[in-house]
Amino acid sequence: MSAVPDGKKLVRSPSGLRMVPENGAFSSPFSLEEPQWVPDKECPRCMQCDTKFDFIRRKHHCRRCGRCFCDKCCSKKVALPRMCFVDPVRQCAECSLNSQKEAEFYDKQVKVLLGGGSFVVTLGTSEKSEAMTCRLSNNHRYLFLDGESHFEVELSRISSMQILTDGSSPAEKDIHTYTSLLDTQFLSEGGSSRANGMLLHFKPAGSQEPQQLRVEAADDRKAAALWLAAMHKAAKLLYEARDQ
Ligand SMILES: [Zn+2]
Ligand SMILES: [Zn+2]
Repeated sequence: MSAVPDGKKLVRSPSGLRMVPENGAFSSPFSLEEPQWVPDKECPRCMQCDTKFDFIRRKHHCRRCGRCFCDKCCSKKVALPRMCFVDPVRQCAECSLNSQKEAEFYDKQVKVLLGGGSFVVTLGTSEKSEAMTCRLSNNHRYLFLDGESHFEVELSRISSMQILTDGSSPAEKDIHTYTSLLDTQFLSEGGSSRANGMLLHFKPAGSQEPQQLRVEAADDRKAAALWLAAMHKAAKLLYEARDQ
């Protein structure tokens, strides 16, 4: 078995082996809770194809949604990093599709976010901007901004995120708005033009006063657009995770 990284521990649940932060308060904001399994006595039939369970046709629980299925409808084992499983786990058709999409986020976008991008950052409504590198922290919990100064935003304290796109004054449809991620209200999403900035509102720790943070693409606009697109996808997952 591979070594357990610092600050993590292995736990065994009925669904499989998971590697979770030793302190639950440090779990990734993208993580999802394991579902309660539908009790055996409440599912005499497969919840997908209606096959009746017996000694031959055994039931299986989908590790992602906790519902009951026959072997045929729940045969795929797919990686489920959002629930911290070490190995791929059994999932129903619908869930395995979602998990496969998320695997792409972990394989590609998370790497882009950890790698960081160069931006011009404006905090609040100040006139003063600073060239900073913006990246996701290794535990996925913070956005680190580093320039002359260091600044960090806890992802779970972001209340809204707008991805700004090309054009001096973006049209309504080109603004991706996650109004109030904290309150899990999803407003709008649209536009396919290239991202060139992001407007965040967040509540700093210990404060209820929302602050604004604006990041705009610096010289490498292509890399910035890639980082912002990854951030956009991250916002969707955050939104879903909070919606559970
Ligand atoms: Zn079935
Ligand atoms: Zn499922």
